Formats: sequence, C-alpha cells, structure tokens
Amino acid sequence: MTDIAETQILDALASVIDSASGIDIVGAGMVSGLRVEGGHVTFSIEVDPAQGAALETMRQAAESAVRQVKGVDKVTAVLTAERKPAAPAPHAHAHPHPPQSNPMPRQPIGRHANNRKIELPEIKAIVAVASGKGGVGKSTTAVNLALAMAKDGKRIGLLDADIYGPSLPRMMGIKTKPTQSEDGKINPIEAWGIKCVSMGMLVAEETPVIWRGPMATGALEQLMTDVAWGELDALVIDLPPGTGDIHLTLVQRVSLTGAVIVSTPQDIALLDARKGLNMFKKVEVPVFGIVENMSYFIAPDTGKRYDIFGHGGAEREAERLGVPFLGGVPLDMTIRETSDDGRPIVATDPQGVYAQTYGAIAEKVWQAIKIAQATPKAAQ
Ligand code: ADP
Repeated sequence: MTDIAETQILDALASVIDSASGIDIVGAGMVSGLRVEGGHVTFSIEVDPAQGAALETMRQAAESAVRQVKGVDKVTAVLTAERKPAAPAPHAHAHPHPPQSNPMPRQPIGRHANNRKIELPEIKAIVAVASGKGGVGKSTTAVNLALAMAKDGKRIGLLDADIYGPSLPRMMGIKTKPTQSEDGKINPIEAWGIKCVSMGMLVAEETPVIWRGPMATGALEQLMTDVAWGELDALVIDLPPGTGDIHLTLVQRVSLTGAVIVSTPQDIALLDARKGLNMFKKVEVPVFGIVENMSYFIAPDTGKRYDIFGHGGAEREAERLGVPFLGGVPLDMTIRETSDDGRPIVATDPQGVYAQTYGAIAEKVWQAIKIAQATPKAAQ
C-alpha cells in the first residue's frame, strides 16, 4: 500500500490540538519531516520541552490519529525541541523522545506546503499591530501610529490584514478602489501621505466576507506579494484581533521586525493569559511593547484628567510581562470621531496633543526597529 497522500495524513493530524496554544499541530506549523514509506508513516512534532508530560499525550494522540488513515499500518512520531540548529542551550537537548539517527528536515509543513519566507526587499521594516481581542482600538492605534511614523520623509505603508472586519478605508477616509499596475500588481492608495491597502478595498463594503482559513491566508499572502508598495521605510500591519490562521501565516511567511500590542487597561492584566504575546515570542519576533488605549479620560469641559482604572497599572503589568510600555492614549471623543470619520487625528491635527502622544509612541517604535535590525535573530 503506497498511495497514501500526505494531505490525508495532515488532515488526520489537524485533529490534534497543541494544548499550549490551543491550535492544531498542523496549523501551528509543528509538524515536520513527514515521510510515507509503504504503510509506514514517520514525522516529527516540534515542541517546547517545558510542556512536560502533556507532550507524550499529544505524541500518542498524533500517532493514533494517523493510524486511522486507510493504508497506514505503522506510525512513528517523534518529538523534537530544537528550533535552531545553531548551538542551543544544553537543556534544550532534553527530548522526551529524541529523534532517531535519521535526521528529519526541520522545516515545518502545513496544508499550503509552501512555507518559505515571502521576500519583500523593498520594505525595510515590518511592524505588526496586534491585540488580544476586538474593540480595544487596535485599528485606531495602527492608523495613527503609521501616520506618526511618517515623519521626516519616512515612507510608510499600512496594510489592513483584518480581512474579517477591515476598517482601514473607513478610518483613512478612502472611498476609491485601488488600480492595477502594468505588471498586474495592486497599486496602494495614498491617503494622508501613507500608502494603504486593505481587503476592504478589494471587496464591496456591504459584501459579507466569509473566509475559510485557507482562503483567508491565501488572500493575505496575495496582499503581501501582489502590492506595488515601492520602497518603504516601514510597513505597519493591522492584524485581526486574537490569534488565528492569519497570524500564523504572517509569522511563518513574513519576516516581521517586531510587534506592537494594543490593550485597554481592563484587559492588560489578562494579556499574558492570551496567546498573542507568546505567539510572537515563540517565533522570535520581538514585542516592541504595549500601547495602553483608552488609558484615562480627559473631561472635555474642564480638561481634568480622570484615571478611571487607576494610574501606572499598565506600566507595572508591562514590566511584569517583560515588555516595554510604549505609552497610554486617553479615551477621547475627538479620537473616536476623527477615526470613525476618516480624518485620523495625527493627520488632521498634527500639532495637537494627541499627535504628540502618538508621536512619542512612534519614536519608541523607530528605536525598537533600529535595535531589532542591529540584533541577529538568534540572539533576540
Ligand atoms: P479594534 O481595531 O481593536 O477593533 P477600533 O480601532 O476599531 O478597535 O476602535 C473601536 C472603537 O473605539 C472605534 O469606534 C474607535 O473610534 C474607538 N476608539 C478607539 N480608540 C479610542 C480612544 N482612544 N478614544 C476614544 N475612542 C476610541
């Protein structure tokens, strides 16, 4: 029996969930070195040895899932713990089940087989803006951060990867659709001095966009490769909230320079329980820091500041999580009105207090970009 398709094996393995991330082991890119020889299937699962005993349960679950595939008579799953071949710390060798002498390729495989990095040589830095959940002001922050980064002639692109609820056209006041360049690429739309692309521009606004995982990641890949960005000093990517297929595709296929996490004060204490922070850390994408949005309230009539959730909590929490605190943005009616009305505050009131607030955050992001670019990946 030799005609077992790899996709059948991957389908079976996709039913096995990594308890640490809550994501299936194929989607999480943990499966590598899949080999089918006759009815004997071998593969490795890349794991974090810190998970301990749960790993053996997962390994056995993976083996028995594959054993159900027709034609399979023997399954060997091994756990591997090496991310990088270069000099790992001594304890990183502690494989609960060390790979046998046969060195398996470590490149994780997924349904889309192609996991090579997308080359974007014209883009000097890529910054992802993420949040644990929706409605915390991630898009508002991404838009105003991108605008604040576009100072001193810096060329900035803004990609709305939130294909489930694209908000960039609304926030940037973009009503036109992008045109195609001669070589068939999408020309980004220039608004308020930065280049913008969003799924929202490619589909009609009223069309409900229902994406299945592979469609969504395919659309993102297309957006990453088929846009004529030209030379950019930085591309800011507004991610969908939480973690999912889009995030995985992005961290696997695109060389992110770093990530900015947006949170409200109420949710900041929950951040480490959420997966976002860990996801970036796991794949060695530096987390540039946390922006606390709706951090405090300034009464429009008196100008008095109210620290509704107390003062300094976010800084303390960021410190506890070991990530920098990039700054707090108040809950303010003008921020809401301008961002919902397509007139982002950094662009329309560049001398105002909020342009300064976002400007200070942008400054820290530029510094973090510089450090990340000067630091070799393995040392981060
Ligand atoms: P997300 O991208 O996290 O879903 P949005 O950026 O779309 O969040 O913001 C959700 C709503 O909150 C929008 O109406 C937006 O205008 C508003 N908003 C975001 N940040 C602020 C703020 N600092 N002050 C007032 N309103 C805000």
